[in-house]
Amino acid sequence: MPAGSRRHLMDKTMQRRNTKQVAAGPLRFGSGQRILVQTMTKVFTTDVEACVRQIRRLERAGCDLVRIAVPTRADTEAFAQIVQRVKMPLAADVHFAADRAIEAIEAGAVKIRLNPGNVKDAADIRRVIDCAKSHGAAIRVGVNEASIRDLKADVPAERRTALMLEELRVYLRLFEKMGFENLVLSAKSANTARTIEVNRAIAQAFDYPLHIGLTHAGLPEDALVPSSVAIGTLLAEGIGDTIRVSVAGDPVKEIQIGRQILQSLGLLERMGPELIVCPTCGRCRIDVVGLAGKVKRLLKDVHTPMRVAVMGCIVNGPGEAADADLAICAAEGKGYIYRKGQKIAVVEAALLLETLKEELKKLEQTS
Ligand code: SF4
Repeated sequence: MPAGSRRHLMDKTMQRRNTKQVAAGPLRFGSGQRILVQTMTKVFTTDVEACVRQIRRLERAGCDLVRIAVPTRADTEAFAQIVQRVKMPLAADVHFAADRAIEAIEAGAVKIRLNPGNVKDAADIRRVIDCAKSHGAAIRVGVNEASIRDLKADVPAERRTALMLEELRVYLRLFEKMGFENLVLSAKSANTARTIEVNRAIAQAFDYPLHIGLTHAGLPEDALVPSSVAIGTLLAEGIGDTIRVSVAGDPVKEIQIGRQILQSLGLLERMGPELIVCPTCGRCRIDVVGLAGKVKRLLKDVHTPMRVAVMGCIVNGPGEAADADLAICAAEGKGYIYRKGQKIAVVEAALLLETLKEELKKLEQTS
């Protein structure tokens, strides 16, 4: 890549897209604001205890907003109880019934998600907007490729993006005519390339904040790459104000992956340490992967942001670990400990972990 192109990419990375500012309770979406990480509860909403437990775990994992499905009246009643028991701002996920949206907002939802594919009646939308206005709630207009009207299996890819954009445009016209702009937009697909394409198109066409992610990406091990590619590509272009990584499994995993995506782009500070491990090669003379696993367990007790590296040799190790606050570079039967690129100790292999532990303590005390 020529130097000019790389500079262009870096400049784009630093520049967030300019958007309107959207308020949802204590949260703010849009340019100039932090990119928020969100997920959904994955237990029955009517199981209030289980929801509260899950939301508290999500809060500890660094989640900013939790969405809860409210398909029935019993769910919005449960939603009202959950709101009272957690500090986390909550959003309600509404399909088909405008009444559920109104009940959720009245119960304390700071934001609701409406799907233009199934809440279509103008009078219903008016009632939801009036309620959102009087409670200061935000609305996410969330188009899904799967719920687009007229979408047949043989519709070509370009047409699918255009249809999603058009559905959003028609729906937005209604909101804007009714004087409501406290909106976040999303258009999701299970297809990574289309998710990128449609969000680029939306970012060009509208200046509302964007919620980005794939609709369903799979089990955690399968979801990681498609979600990271779609969300990471868009964020690197300055597109995206809140993210949701969709994973079939524990929602805490969604938050962990979402935060890692943001951290890898320098869009979020780490709460704790980062572990760098060399990929290992034929020069490696110790069990780097085993040692790294032990170091990772040690780091569970460290809460200061720092970079720790475990490198398999001293040929490339010191150079590659130069950015690390602490690094182990292994050699035959021994290892070198580096602190911020300076060698501070040479220790037998059996003592490496213990020595690193002591250095970690010292580093924490001085941080
Ligand atoms: S640090 Fe050394 S052992 Fe590890 S991958 Fe690089 S050259 Fe190989």
